[in-house]
Amino acid sequence: MTTVLTPASPLTAADRCDRCGAQAYLRVVLASGGELLFCAHHGRKFEPELKKIAVEIQDESGRLGTTAATAADDER
Ligand SMILES: [Zn+2]
Repeated sequence: MTTVLTPASPLTAADRCDRCGAQAYLRVVLASGGELLFCAHHGRKFEPELKKIAVEIQDESGRLGTTAATAADDER
């Protein structure tokens, strides 16, 4: 049996953004084999950079729902 890639498991509440510690909704697998976790906010912020270095971006920010995304901007 050959393991090609670790199967992407769903992100949980225990997965935290590397930048701010909020719950992570994006998992970024790097070409180097490393892994980064980002909340929806930082995932969007760093997306252009991440796309250059990532081999895979697992985006679960859709689970947040549209109301949460809107509220985040209003509450600033
Ligand atoms: Zn964050």
